[in-house]
Amino acid sequence: RAARAEDAVQRLTRWHDDFPTPGVRFADLTPVFADSESFRTVLDCLAGCAPEADLVAGVDARGFLLGAGVAALLGTGVVAVRKAGKLPPPVISREYTLEYGSAALEIPADGIDLAGRNVLLLDDVLATGGTLAAAAALFTDAGAHVVAAAVVLELGFLGGRDRQGDYPLTSIVKL
Ligand code: AMP
Repeated sequence: RAARAEDAVQRLTRWHDDFPTPGVRFADLTPVFADSESFRTVLDCLAGCAPEADLVAGVDARGFLLGAGVAALLGTGVVAVRKAGKLPPPVISREYTLEYGSAALEIPADGIDLAGRNVLLLDDVLATGGTLAAAAALFTDAGAHVVAAAVVLELGFLGGRDRQGDYPLTSIVKL
């Protein structure tokens, strides 16, 4: 399963130099998700990272696709971790640094009982790691336990893994 998912990601990812800014090599996973067999294999692989999870969270925006699919496989609900300003208050918010400046991620501060929940956190690409770390901190702030984090593609040379908390982090492909 892991080998099939890895092969699909290697084969179908669209790489683009200097997008969205000079010096960045952008990995576009659209063709991986658009291919039925590859998408299913990737979802199976991610779901296998934390069969004990009782909630799945996906990070804005491509993590939403993964979060919904994996939640359906695991039989859990799903939470969309949104960029700042998209959710009505009250929210839990975490700022994180980007290459230039900063941004914030948010989840609702009420309406979901997050205390003691076992969360599997998903995103498409791990780059410098600030996004995933901020998303994880949101759930920790809310009293949940991040049991695992998983991404489809890890750009290992950017060191994002070192910025994560003590949850296990799985990547289908590591470069
Ligand atoms: P970072 O916080 O640096 O780990 O950035 C991760 C977030 O930005 C993820 O949500 C990715 O979707 C996106 N991202 C960052 N760098 C890339 C890249 N080279 N290719 C594709 N997506 C990226």
